[in-house]
Amino acid sequence: MADTIFGKILRGEIPAHKVYEDDKVLAFLDINPVARGHTLVIPKEAAETLDALSDDSAAAIGRVLPRLARAVVAASGATAYNVLQNNGAGAHQAVPHVHFHIIPKHEDGTGLGIGWRPSKLEDGAALAKAIATRVGP
Ligand code: 5GP
Repeated sequence: MADTIFGKILRGEIPAHKVYEDDKVLAFLDINPVARGHTLVIPKEAAETLDALSDDSAAAIGRVLPRLARAVVAASGATAYNVLQNNGAGAHQAVPHVHFHIIPKHEDGTGLGIGWRPSKLEDGAALAKAIATRVGP
């Protein structure tokens, strides 16, 4: 996979305001925050999208995400927060290295804006089966 700006941060080639690091995970402040406290959590593994990530890295991120969310909320004084994870340019992914956004929602309205257009579920049984039979071991 191509080198990315997050690869450069991981190698210490460009600076970042780090908030957490272990052998598999790094978290740092987003350079263009949507809200105060906006934090990025990335695996050290160079995977482009979530579906390409190893179980080990996924588990390492899952283990620390709640802890990081608590810290971001406590430090920023947010009243709520979103965790956002974009995959693919069509889904707003700008940096092709897996990352989770922790985005505080503040009382002044800053935070993630969501365009959510629900529809009616069609062919639920067939669709659920199609997905279930493709879940790997
Ligand atoms: P995406 O749209 O790919 O889900 O989000 C990428 C995020 O990375 C954006 O919120 C953007 O502000 C952040 N970002 C891009 N370049 C840098 C950088 O050099 N340093 C930091 N800390 N964040 C960055």
